[in-house]
Amino acid sequence: MSTAQLPSTIPGADHLLLRGATLIDGTGEAPVAAAEIEVRDGRVVYSGPARETAAAGATLVDLSGKTILPGFIDAHVHFGMSIEDQPADAGRFESERTFRAALNARKTLMAGVTTARDLGGLDRGYRDAIAAGLIQGPRTHLALVPLSPTGGHTDFTMPNGRAVPMHMPVDPIIDTDDDVRRTIRLLVRSGADVIKVCTTGGVSSPSDTPDDIGVPEEHVRLIVAETAKRAGQPVAAHAQGAEGIKAAIRGGVRSVEHGYGIDDEGIDLMLEHGTFLVPTLSSALRVPDPAAVPGYLYEKKVKWSAIARERVAAALAAGVKVALGTDSGVCPHGENLREPVHSVELGLTPMQAIVAGTKNAAELLRLDSDLGTLEEGKLADFIVIDFDPLEDITPLASPDNVKVVVQGGAVVKDTAAWFDSAPVRPRLAQ
Ligand SMILES: [Zn+2]
Repeated sequence: MSTAQLPSTIPGADHLLLRGATLIDGTGEAPVAAAEIEVRDGRVVYSGPARETAAAGATLVDLSGKTILPGFIDAHVHFGMSIEDQPADAGRFESERTFRAALNARKTLMAGVTTARDLGGLDRGYRDAIAAGLIQGPRTHLALVPLSPTGGHTDFTMPNGRAVPMHMPVDPIIDTDDDVRRTIRLLVRSGADVIKVCTTGGVSSPSDTPDDIGVPEEHVRLIVAETAKRAGQPVAAHAQGAEGIKAAIRGGVRSVEHGYGIDDEGIDLMLEHGTFLVPTLSSALRVPDPAAVPGYLYEKKVKWSAIARERVAAALAAGVKVALGTDSGVCPHGENLREPVHSVELGLTPMQAIVAGTKNAAELLRLDSDLGTLEEGKLADFIVIDFDPLEDITPLASPDNVKVVVQGGAVVKDTAAWFDSAPVRPRLAQ
């Protein structure tokens, strides 16, 4: 499979030598105590045990007593959405919506997420604005819109025929084979890095449930065949009920998003096909304020939270490949590292949760030659914390505990002033 286009962000051009921290490099290998990491022109040029001789000309940063981890990758966000804010959003100008999405992207970066995948709602101007340094945010891959049939998860038309405005850059409804081909070609033309299909209904849509089948298996297969003619854009399936999950896997998707009601047969299929699970526990386990969302949404949420708790735990125990994603937009933006904490609650070890949010997510996005681990040659995306997440991963959930965020060698957050000796800031566009 070909690799994906890297949505680069402007790198730091300097030369840093980080010393003394415990290194958890994202590969799943044992941590390295008192490690040394050398960063030059935005990339890692050395990472491992401390060396005898110092790198000449580098600015030294002493990180003794701290822990350094790769920047996290959130494989499922919606920067353009805040579910409890949707009624107010209907009255906003497009410009306000844009600024709000930019703020959500920045909050996500400050939480320790240096790369993200937006699975619906944004056009490619957001991705390109971040890459060009016009606004700060994670390097972003985009699905542009999630696809479903009429009456499915992305058809926000009420039973009375009135459409709830959802601001999608491309019409997301696909019913026929011709719709499928035309829409995929349109998405590719419009810059989609990933294709998202909804093979089941969902919790937030008015006319269906997670047990309903959405995009059928034969259309998933057709989409995979269409993208194979282009850059091989991976297909991500919103899939919550057991039957639609299996349809997605059999159709050839790269990831099942949510997977709340996966049955044992679905787990076996996932293992057999090497499909990733992105369990979006930050959203699944969070029941929203009943006053702020429609009644159908609240009722479905309570039911499917309980199902997810049981069945996602079964999938994790069976050893399916997991990549972390929050579905933020359905849950608050900027609290993304709750996700590894939730995955530990449901059975992963802290090390497995870190790997799921770094190396595995980079593989899912096909960005693993540049991102996901802190190894020689990779982009210098990392976070620094002052606790041991293998002992207790819980503090990661609070963005305040992520003291330093470095993206492409540029320090984008340093609330504890640990990098005062190395003032490498991102070069925002002038
Ligand atoms: Zn989503």
